[in-house]
Amino acid sequence: MTQLNEALLGILACPNCRSSLVVDYEASELVCAKPECGLAYPVRDSIPILLVDEARAPGHRRVEVSSDTADEDVTHVVARDEDE
Ligand SMILES: [Zn+2]
Repeated sequence: MTQLNEALLGILACPNCRSSLVVDYEASELVCAKPECGLAYPVRDSIPILLVDEARAPGHRRVEVSSDTADEDVTHVVARDEDE
């Protein structure tokens, strides 16, 4: 994965507990620095997904799947040209 911007990391915080986040480059995750929380947030296309719903709970490491499906979100862009 591409390196995350250090300045960006500095302003990011765990949405669950507001602690700072540590990058796990091997797993492409941002891991909450607070041991009691410890949620791991996925990073997709260098964009951290800071959603508790998307986070992986500590101690339940998922099997790493290849990231070939990373473009699945592109279809959500809808052109809006109608003005009421
Ligand atoms: Zn946390």
